[in-house]
Amino acid sequence: MSKRVLITGGAGFLGSYLVEAHLLRGDLVTCLDNLQTGSKENILPLLEHPNFTFLEQDVMQPIEGEFEQIFNFACPASPPRYQENPIHTFQTSVLGVANLLEMAQKSGARLLHASTSEVYGDPLIHPQTEAYWGNVNPIGERSCYDEGKRAAETLCNDSRRILGVDAKLVRIFNTYGPRMDPADGRVVSNFVVQALQGKDLTIYGKGEQTRSFCFVDDLILVILAMMDADNFSGPVNIGNPGEFTMLELADLILEMTGSKSKKVFRPLPADDPTQRRPDISLAKEKLGWEPKISLAEGLKRTIVYFDEWLKGHG
Ligand code: UDP
Repeated sequence: MSKRVLITGGAGFLGSYLVEAHLLRGDLVTCLDNLQTGSKENILPLLEHPNFTFLEQDVMQPIEGEFEQIFNFACPASPPRYQENPIHTFQTSVLGVANLLEMAQKSGARLLHASTSEVYGDPLIHPQTEAYWGNVNPIGERSCYDEGKRAAETLCNDSRRILGVDAKLVRIFNTYGPRMDPADGRVVSNFVVQALQGKDLTIYGKGEQTRSFCFVDDLILVILAMMDADNFSGPVNIGNPGEFTMLELADLILEMTGSKSKKVFRPLPADDPTQRRPDISLAKEKLGWEPKISLAEGLKRTIVYFDEWLKGHG
């Protein structure tokens, strides 16, 4: 049966894949995006689709329509972008989800909220399980995002507990792939674009900090599975447990692109987490999911995408 689905942040990196997946299922999809960091380019081929509606508006404003499923992916997610207007970032996270929870409560819709590994801050427990409460600076440069996402989790959880709203939480770890915004400053897009352009790869700090990178196709599968799962509301970690230092990532990208670029070292941004790796046992147990695409395979597809993107954008 076709469903009415609202995807906020639907013109963004992850949101646009969710829009496509639901159109393929035959659903009626409304994509809401204020285009702060999302891009019309991501949804351009879909604008003529009969089951697709685009609303250019902020997630905090009242939203027209009734939906059975709501995906909340509206929030800038890369550190430089979410720090540009930190007050707006915090409000987007908290007031945005409050708006959607109210809609879900009135209509009985199921809501899946995109939370983040940033709720663990600079984690002292490694790898991170869902039971870990995190180590977050409440007044640092990342706190608009980290604390905004933590407060949004509180609102989702209390709305479920007290009001019976069918709200679900996924904690998304670093994800990469085609359609990342090359200008948003994330490490994978920066390194790949720098390598392809023959520019220096900018390593922040000593490059010994670690991250776990999940290819977008793997991540979208588990988000869809989570929305469809009855009797499981999370929070659940979703990401690829492979763990790499930024130096290892840089070397892999240099090797795969055959680039002659050099590595240069730049200051480490404030509160940059030193290590991050998801424990995904819960996702395996409850959703029968684990990522299938290796970093080398995912990077291969991402490099092809950025190579073509750069040719098209001169
Ligand atoms: N990073 C880097 N060079 C860059 C961009 C990022 O070394 O050009 C580092 C950054 O300091 C962080 C890691 O890569 O330790 C991941 O950064 P990203 O912004 O992609 O995501 P997040 O910090 O939110 O995990």
